[in-house]
Amino acid sequence: MKNVFKLEDLPYAPNALEPIIDKETMVVHREKHHQTYVNNLNAQIEIFPELEELSLEDIMKNVSKFSPAVRNNVGGVYNHNIFWKMMAPVGKCGKPSEKLMSYIERDFKTLENLKEQFLKAGLTQFGSGWAWIIVDKDKKLSVAQTSNQDNPLMDIALVKGTPILTVDIWEHAYYLKYQNRRVEYLANWWDVINWNEVNTLFESSLK
Ligand code: MN
Repeated sequence: MKNVFKLEDLPYAPNALEPIIDKETMVVHREKHHQTYVNNLNAQIEIFPELEELSLEDIMKNVSKFSPAVRNNVGGVYNHNIFWKMMAPVGKCGKPSEKLMSYIERDFKTLENLKEQFLKAGLTQFGSGWAWIIVDKDKKLSVAQTSNQDNPLMDIALVKGTPILTVDIWEHAYYLKYQNRRVEYLANWWDVINWNEVNTLFESSLK
């Protein structure tokens, strides 16, 4: 099997987000679940050799041309890559930039409203998936939810845009610590958002 796609390094220690994300969840989630998506995407290169030359973003833009296995695993790799960077230890989370706040106030009125709608998207997603804040083609912020490992960059997405914030709502992201309490996981997760990273993604989405 080729080894083109790789598991990225975690930008903090695996226990750095405790008690909100416990070390065991972090280790299993990254080293087992995320690693499996990486392995499975690499395995697809045998079937679709052109994948070797493409970035994750380019694969996602054309994902309908490939198999369901490519769709599930390219999403699994990319979504987790951005998810790890989307979090930071309490005290190192920063805050939304002035520019991002001006967009939030334009499109959601308040940050509290954005939080409420984003967490509701996470809570109401049936089964496994992700909740998102995206910048759409008109540079407007909006909320989205996707099933499985789909994301708003894929050509098959119902709501398309550039992700600036996302949370993993698969049970594997929270079950060891929170069991069925997705609402508690989401409320706590809000406190480990790495706003510095969100600001960076927001800035590049405007280009
Ligand atoms: Mn996950």
